[in-house]
Amino acid sequence: MQLYTSNPIKIYNSLTGKKEDFTPINEGHIGMYVCGPTVYSNVHLGNVRTFMSFDMVFRYLKHLGYKVRYVRNITDAGHLENDADAGEDKITKKARLEQIEPMEVVQRYTVDFHNILNTLNFLPPSIEPTATGHIIEQIALIQKIIDNGFGYEVNGSVYFDVHKFNETNEYGKLSKRKLEDLIHNTRALDGQSDKKNPQDFALWKKAEPQHIMRWPSPWSDGFPGWHLECTAMSTKYLGEQFDIHGGGMDLKFPHHECEIAQNEAAIGKSPVNYWMHANMLELNGARMSKSTGNTVNPDELLSGENTFFTKAFAPGVIRFFNAQASYRSVLDLTDEGLLASEKGFYKLMDGIALLNSITATDNSTFDVSSWKQKCYDAMNDDFNSPILIAHLFEAVKYINQIKDQKATISATDLALLTTTMHAFVYDVLGLENVAETNSGSDKLAGAVEVLIKLRQEARANKDFAMSDKIRDELADAGIVLKDGKDGTTFSVN
Ligand SMILES: [Zn+2]
Repeated sequence: MQLYTSNPIKIYNSLTGKKEDFTPINEGHIGMYVCGPTVYSNVHLGNVRTFMSFDMVFRYLKHLGYKVRYVRNITDAGHLENDADAGEDKITKKARLEQIEPMEVVQRYTVDFHNILNTLNFLPPSIEPTATGHIIEQIALIQKIIDNGFGYEVNGSVYFDVHKFNETNEYGKLSKRKLEDLIHNTRALDGQSDKKNPQDFALWKKAEPQHIMRWPSPWSDGFPGWHLECTAMSTKYLGEQFDIHGGGMDLKFPHHECEIAQNEAAIGKSPVNYWMHANMLELNGARMSKSTGNTVNPDELLSGENTFFTKAFAPGVIRFFNAQASYRSVLDLTDEGLLASEKGFYKLMDGIALLNSITATDNSTFDVSSWKQKCYDAMNDDFNSPILIAHLFEAVKYINQIKDQKATISATDLALLTTTMHAFVYDVLGLENVAETNSGSDKLAGAVEVLIKLRQEARANKDFAMSDKIRDELADAGIVLKDGKDGTTFSVN
């Protein structure tokens, strides 16, 4: 019997605004779609938080024994700078500025995205489809929407008729917006646009002559609107209706609202049973933004090469920090917060390491079975990882008491405690105790400092053979010493 049969879960559904009992469409199977990155620059740390939260959801559902098909797309075309279908395509713009092919931009930042996620111990999704790989499906979807009377063509571009749609459906139901309010709050069209109404959104855009990324279609040589790819790809791989759709809070409107409208217009069904939205990541209490400079890249956080934090942080510490807040809360990235998480992370890892050296006795002074159920209950309650972590620390406290001979544990309970700790820490939270990624590692730095001192002593004693030996053998190990006027420094190759 799979674990999910005895662990019913509740999910906060953004569509209804309520925590609901989760029932998958097909028993034992879950279809989950998460909007992936637009690969025109290094992946944003806020997006990494979103993907990390859904990585944890994916991991827990798999742990419960569900067969999960997790689809996370790569947006490699069609995402314009402006939500109102204006501005340049983000990838094309980057390609123009750097004078390279758009697909070089896509390749570079897709590799960067995968590298960061691998470093942070993400599980790969089941399918990672790209927008450019699904142009045919998107054209077919547009045709369906036009045939059903919800799309119109003007000068080679096709738009979704939001007003027409709203006569029979409810546009705005996910983001709790009313079309009347949207009309009231948007500027009137300036005559430059082909749209009937400013609320309409592009399904297909005719490409300007200088636009490199273009495909033939029944309407024009052009490219699909950004919202379309997710509808085309989620329908293709998960069906007309599927279980979970996730993404960052900022995608609720207009992106996810448009996805719902497209599905309902094309197929006549609302596509998703449970909408999940991960909240924002802030930096020192303020919104992260490139324009204000209040931003840090994931690799800068990992390497310590930034002006915000006093040191580098290991991937496990970053994951632990994220799991200490509910995915639905705003999370504030601060130096103090990360330093506290680092302490907590190593305390947890030390507790797990102690499990190997503990000797069992006849009985236990702690109820391991009910503790285990509390861990599951926390995650079953809308993936409440901070509560789970509190329970894990309860176990760490117990483990330390056993070590100090202030508590005892039976052999059966020791086995249960060990498997449960491993399951939640390694499998569900995805924490790994690996050293920091490069020269930021405190322990490595400490060891190299010792060798630098020994070399200085050797030099002071005119033992140049020993001094050179230390330098050369460190170089062979990939650590290069540099003698400068302020002393010796090192770098890791
Ligand atoms: Zn999407």
